[in-house]
Amino acid sequence: MNITAVVLEQAGAPMRLQTLHMQDPRPDEMRVRVVASGLCHTDISMLKRPFPVDQPIVLGHEGAGVVEAVGAAIGRFKPGDRVLLSYNHCQTCPSCLSHAPSYCHYFFGRNFLGQRPDGTTGLARQGQPVRHHFFGQSTFASHCLVNETNAIPVPEHIDHELFKMLGPMGCGLQTGAGAMFNVLRPEPGQSVVVLGSGAVGMAAIMAARAMGATTIVAVDRVASRLDLAQELGATHGVLANGDDWVARIKALCGGGAHVSLDTTAHPEVLRVGLEVLGPLGRCGFVGGAAPGTTLPVDVRDMMLGGKTLRGIVEGDANAQAFIPQLLRLHARGLFPFERMVRFYPLADFQQAIDDSLSGLTVKPILLP
Ligand SMILES: [Zn+2]
Ligand SMILES: [Zn+2]
Repeated sequence: MNITAVVLEQAGAPMRLQTLHMQDPRPDEMRVRVVASGLCHTDISMLKRPFPVDQPIVLGHEGAGVVEAVGAAIGRFKPGDRVLLSYNHCQTCPSCLSHAPSYCHYFFGRNFLGQRPDGTTGLARQGQPVRHHFFGQSTFASHCLVNETNAIPVPEHIDHELFKMLGPMGCGLQTGAGAMFNVLRPEPGQSVVVLGSGAVGMAAIMAARAMGATTIVAVDRVASRLDLAQELGATHGVLANGDDWVARIKALCGGGAHVSLDTTAHPEVLRVGLEVLGPLGRCGFVGGAAPGTTLPVDVRDMMLGGKTLRGIVEGDANAQAFIPQLLRLHARGLFPFERMVRFYPLADFQQAIDDSLSGLTVKPILLP
């Protein structure tokens, strides 16, 4: 069948809306009609080619949609079912078997190469293959082909308006919330610093509040984001400018924080994440740093302070279990992520990218 998709022709070139041909699903695949797709910074960073991935490719990896057709080997879903999509993983490597699927030994191949594990693609244009399966989905499109592995059923009580906002659960929101709930685990009454108040940072702030952290410092270069961060649960907002912003963060945390999270993947910011910690503090970081990025660390300070530095992929979350957890928190008013969402027609993808980069919109969601 023919589908509509936003195609990245080559890194550095603008994306274009095009008609492509999609194969019928294979036995282990489903065709999902995309209802909405979040725009994540990993999509934007792919436009500048941080990873050696072939083009043309269809990006998009925060999909919410309706199952239209299922292959013969699909057991959990049927046409008409609503699903959220998350990252793909192999289910059989040591990480997957020990319930750490975001550290799947084949994570890169399953999520970034834009092809099935056997090297084929299900999309074509004038007979030439177009890459997809980005994070096992490629949702900047009217339709996508996915496996059962990374499809999460949507509970019946979720209404359509909320359903359209749920795609980011599969990446940005679970990344930030999971960093707190699953990895950094601040205790009630402790202090948390979140560097970068984008969607990942906001999710981390909401999670830290739900966990009972009593000092939650949001840090950003855009003042309007700090206002929203404080509405969502931050107790303080620090604008990252001038000479004393790092000192101000430390002072707010009584000299040093228990936990910090860097959501920017910039080495200078990550270094601040370590610097603002008190003794035995734990710093986590997420985000797509370019290959070869290195970090100069004050080894003596780290050792004498007993500090921990931890990389985090997808919030260490097993999406099948973790997203329902976030939905239950949302139902209790403890995870009001809808406050940062703004919708755009799929054709306006460039506006969504521009608004995300300028900080005007925290979480753009594209509607095919
Ligand atoms: Zn695996
Ligand atoms: Zn993402």
